[in-house]
Amino acid sequence: MNIQDYIRDISDFPKPGILFKDITPLLANHKALVSCADQLVGLCPDGVKIDKVIGIEARGFIIGSMIAERLQAGFIPVRKKGKLPYDVKSKSYGLEYGEDTLEIHIDAIKAGEHVLIHDDVLATGGTAKAVCDLVKELGGVVVQCNFIMELEFLNGKDKLDVPRSALLKY
Ligand code: 5GP
Repeated sequence: MNIQDYIRDISDFPKPGILFKDITPLLANHKALVSCADQLVGLCPDGVKIDKVIGIEARGFIIGSMIAERLQAGFIPVRKKGKLPYDVKSKSYGLEYGEDTLEIHIDAIKAGEHVLIHDDVLATGGTAKAVCDLVKELGGVVVQCNFIMELEFLNGKDKLDVPRSALLKY
């Protein structure tokens, strides 16, 4: 199934000049949603037991939890600052203007656990890099970052020193 047909381009969102890839048509279609999760699991490395799947707030939660279920792994939410209730480890990263902070519970990952990080889009790579750093600081091993889409022209791959895969490349 070609999930590309269920990704919609929205011009000038959230700011003028940005062409936003909208995944809500994909989420709304049962066959496309299931196929997307199945295809992402198909890109996971063979022969490595994944202990935890991280989904990055907020779109990464949806298919990230479907991947976790398929891999028989636990699901870990990484959230924006101030949203998680227990003690957290935080990482700030630069945006085009200003900065953002992501947080993970300090007990979410145990030393040596194999972690797969999922988000909908790899753009400049700042978000995924921050999450990789959080996992490493907790002693986890990032086995792969996987994305529905990679916006290759933004060179996010240059920030990542772990394996990555994406179903669609633009
Ligand atoms: P980065 O940190 O790689 O520049 O941006 C990635 C983050 O921004 C991801 O969490 C992703 O959800 C969001 N993002 C950036 N561009 C898009 C886009 O065109 N479509 C969607 N759905 N998310 C995007």
